[in-house]
Amino acid sequence: MYGAFQQRLADTLAEIESAGLSKRERIITTPQGPEIGVVDAEHEVLNFCANNYLGLADDPRIVEAAHEGLDDYGFGMASVRFICGTQTPHRELERRIAAFLGTQDTILFSSCFDANGGVFEALFGPQDAIISDELNHASLIDGIRLSKASRYRYRNADMADLRAQLEASADAQTRVIVTDGVFSMDGAYAPLREICDLADEFGALVLVDDSHAVGFVGAGGRGTPELFGVADRVDILTGTLGKALGGASGGYVSSHAEVVELLRQRARPYLFSNSVAPSVVTGSLAALDTIAASEQARQQLIANTILLRGLMSAAGFDLDPFTGPSDATRPGDVPPHPITPVMFPGPDGARLAGGIAQHMLAAGVYVIPFSYPVVPRGKARIRVQLSAAHSSDDVRTCVDAFVAARAALTA
Ligand SMILES: *Cc1c(COP(=O)(O)O)cnc(C)c1O
Repeated sequence: MYGAFQQRLADTLAEIESAGLSKRERIITTPQGPEIGVVDAEHEVLNFCANNYLGLADDPRIVEAAHEGLDDYGFGMASVRFICGTQTPHRELERRIAAFLGTQDTILFSSCFDANGGVFEALFGPQDAIISDELNHASLIDGIRLSKASRYRYRNADMADLRAQLEASADAQTRVIVTDGVFSMDGAYAPLREICDLADEFGALVLVDDSHAVGFVGAGGRGTPELFGVADRVDILTGTLGKALGGASGGYVSSHAEVVELLRQRARPYLFSNSVAPSVVTGSLAALDTIAASEQARQQLIANTILLRGLMSAAGFDLDPFTGPSDATRPGDVPPHPITPVMFPGPDGARLAGGIAQHMLAAGVYVIPFSYPVVPRGKARIRVQLSAAHSSDDVRTCVDAFVAARAALTA
């Protein structure tokens, strides 16, 4: 029975391979950090591709708190939240995230993918309209598909198109504008002030997925609503515990009390999936404590980003993924996001980016090339991600490796 299907799968895999689009997982032999051991590399390599923005993934305070959670609350819950899967720290973490973000309540999910997968179907029905940025994360796109609301899409960060979609959806009972706070392939911020202004004008709600911001964007690390001064104008926040907040796993929706309560009653990934492990919950509580006192780390992260951008631009690399005006997404007073895309445009870009990343790894610098379907065809890139745990020498080493790899491959 399997034979014909096996051939089909083998053909598809061969197509992916021959297009140069295969993704290989590199196996790491150490904890996640600015320097890691990887299978196949002789020496430790500098890591510029983790979402470990504040360097908390192996922070001893968080590891210790996770150990305590393991000792005090056991290994696993073996239950969904509403049956018998809620312990003191689960509720404590929800309250603490809400207090940190300035919302009324928070509900935990196993991942932000699940939070986004559950939030739309539970809250919005056929009488409603969801208006979504075209570059939103896959989990938002999937979650929106699961709801019965009408769907509208606007061009990335394009406020004229958002206005047009709001006008087109005038019949809906409730409209919600949905955006990533930061677009992860570009490191660009959503123009939240303008989005909130349009939401006010048209009486729409605003949902922001701030997975690539909470912990390190904004003066207090509260994310893009804090950065743009619109924290009290965003209705629903979703986010992850799997990036800056220690990087383990888990996600959340943080919002008005009624929104959170209805999600507890109706969100399917919450009702039908196991609780976050207790050690992850207690570790994440410690991560929140750490973040509140991480002003210096946030400054270091910004300084590292500015240094990398300056050196790479001076070396003649193209850091701008946009073909049109991009300044709307990063006004002058806003620091650059630590996601720094180094562009290799054109039909041969994917192969060149792949070759450069491979050359850099041999020189001890780990970066990842992205190509179709993760980014549009012809817009291949190496996405450099900085961490507060990098030193300025680490950043210089990264730039030197880019320059050497380019020289070797384009000679
Ligand atoms: C990483 C990410 C997610 C998924 O988060 P997980 O907790 O790993 O499932 C969702 N949305 C955005 C915008 C992300 O960057």
